[in-house]
Amino acid sequence: MTRELRERWADVEPECGDGWLDIIDDTLAEIRETVEAEDMDESGMNLLDVEVKRVATWKGLLKFWIQAPNLGELQSILEHAKLRSLWTCEMCGEDGRMREEKQVVRCRDCATEQELKLTKEEMN
Ligand SMILES: [Zn+2]
Repeated sequence: MTRELRERWADVEPECGDGWLDIIDDTLAEIRETVEAEDMDESGMNLLDVEVKRVATWKGLLKFWIQAPNLGELQSILEHAKLRSLWTCEMCGEDGRMREEKQVVRCRDCATEQELKLTKEEMN
């Protein structure tokens, strides 16, 4: 995360595994770019209006809680982040998949024996 973004949303402590930190960085950068571009329009919204309330694992996937005057375009950015988390191991950032029964996204290495067993049929 860039220093600037850290300062802007410094109080946001991601409640998820380290494997998703890249997604969070990218997402915050995208939010910033979008809001700054919008500002050039006439929406009047600027970065100070956008609050990142929480970033956490929610039902197995990455979720952002954002407060902004106009969520509009930000919605698709958040949706994209969620979709990326579906295929990214929450622990290590390698390719992962949803371990259905446990509702966690893990790669083969990070999944427990039990989680692997539960998804074995799908993987073959
Ligand atoms: Zn992993």
